[in-house]
Amino acid sequence: MPSYVPGPPYPFRLRRSQIHGRGAYATQPIAAGTRIIEYKGERITTAEADRRYPDDPEHPHHTFLFAIDDDVVVDAAFRGNAARWINHCCDPNCDAVIDDGRIFIEAVRDIAPGEELTYDYNFILDERHTPAAKRRYPCHCGAENCRGTILAKKR
Ligand SMILES: [Zn+2]
Repeated sequence: MPSYVPGPPYPFRLRRSQIHGRGAYATQPIAAGTRIIEYKGERITTAEADRRYPDDPEHPHHTFLFAIDDDVVVDAAFRGNAARWINHCCDPNCDAVIDDGRIFIEAVRDIAPGEELTYDYNFILDERHTPAAKRRYPCHCGAENCRGTILAKKR
């Protein structure tokens, strides 16, 4: 059976976020378990992603990349949709679920109108997650359990 793929209109709108740049805010109650939107974008190889966005320690990149596995990366800078504006939070109300090679943002708890939608980016670098690396990928989510970085806890 094919998975459910949500389409517009989506139950959120975009506006300036306290966390970072633009964010996605619920416009209606969203029940836990709801598949909200697909994270769309161009499907490219890891090598192509590295070519497009070379790592520059002076300018840590804020890209719209989402790694599906070791080989495939979705670049939402191309053919992306509103899902790319959903911010990271260390205490998120959504999760990014990979289903049949596609990425979906799903609510992990009931969300009230006006709440910002977030999920844990759990970024993984090729290098070790040293304190210096974490400082290059800081988190300002404001959650009580904020770990101070959008990098994954462990490799
Ligand atoms: Zn945080």
